[in-house]
Amino acid sequence: MKIVLLGTSSAVPTLTRGLSSTALVREGDVFLFDCGEGTQLQLMRSGVKRSRIHSIFIGHLHGDHLYGIAGLLSTLHLDGREAPLNVFGPEGLRVFLNAAFRTADLQFTFNLNVREFPRGYRGRVLDEEEFYVEALPLDHSIFCLGWRFQEKDKPGVFNLDKARELGIPRGPLYGKLQHGEKIMLPDGRTITPDMVLGMPREGKSVVYCLDTQFSERSIQLADKCTALVHETTFGPDAIELARDRKHSTMADAARVAKEAGAANLIATHFSSRYDGRQIAQIGDEAREVFEKITVGRDLLEIEI
Ligand SMILES: [Zn+2]
Ligand SMILES: [Zn+2]
Repeated sequence: MKIVLLGTSSAVPTLTRGLSSTALVREGDVFLFDCGEGTQLQLMRSGVKRSRIHSIFIGHLHGDHLYGIAGLLSTLHLDGREAPLNVFGPEGLRVFLNAAFRTADLQFTFNLNVREFPRGYRGRVLDEEEFYVEALPLDHSIFCLGWRFQEKDKPGVFNLDKARELGIPRGPLYGKLQHGEKIMLPDGRTITPDMVLGMPREGKSVVYCLDTQFSERSIQLADKCTALVHETTFGPDAIELARDRKHSTMADAARVAKEAGAANLIATHFSSRYDGRQIAQIGDEAREVFEKITVGRDLLEIEI
C-alpha cells in the first residue's frame, strides 16, 4: 500500500500546499480521503489514476475538505466512467452534492452511491473480502468522522515441503487447508491448517484523523495502526489557537500516535502561517514525544 499526500494545507491553500486530500493506493485501487479544492489537479500531478478511485471518504463538511469533490465527480462523468463510485460522509453531504449537480443538470454516467452518517455514528462502513473501513467520530468544531482502513489478516504461507512430507495429495485439499479448513486424508488422518501454514500475516492499517483536537477517540481509532495520518495544524506557538478552533498541534498528534501504539505518524494539514522550514522545525520538536514522524508535503508518497 502507499499513501500519497495530495494537499497538506489547512483552511486556505498556499503557493506550495493544496487543500486536504490523501490517496491510499492498494493493489491498483484508490481510496480518497477528503477532497479539497484542487484535488483533481494534484491527482494528475501525482500520477494517481482517478479512473481507479474506488471510494471517497469525506470526514467533515468544512470547505477545505469538500469543495473539490464537485469538480472531480464532474470530470469522472466526462471521462465516461462506468464503474460505480462510493462517497461516504456526514449528514448534509447529499444536500451539497445535489445542489451542485442539479444546478448543472448533470446525470452521471455511473452509479454514485452516496452514504451519509448521522451525528455520533460509529461503525463499519465498507466490508470487502480483503479489507474493511471503520468510522468513529472525532472532536472538531462540527461533526467529523475519522476513518480506519484495515486489511484483513492473511493466512500464513503454504509450506509445500511440509504438505509432501505429510503425504497430502496435490489438488483441492491444498486449497481447503489454505482457506483455514481441516481435511481428512484417505488413510483417516486429520490434517489441520496450522500443520502446513506459516504464521498468519497481519493486515496493515491506515488511520485518518482530520480535523480534530487531541482526543481519546483518535487514540482508540488508531490502536496499533501501521500509519496514522493526523492533522497537525499548529505548532507550540499556537496552542491556545488550536484549543480554540478544535485543531491539533503536532505535539498533540505525536501524543495520539504514541498512546495508540501506532508504527508511524504522517503529519499534514498545516496552517498557512508556517512555511516549510518552520513546519520541519515543529516536526523536530514533536519527535521528542514520538519519533517516527513523517512531515508531509504535497505529492509526498509513503510506502507502508
Ligand atoms: Zn481542515
Ligand atoms: Zn475542519
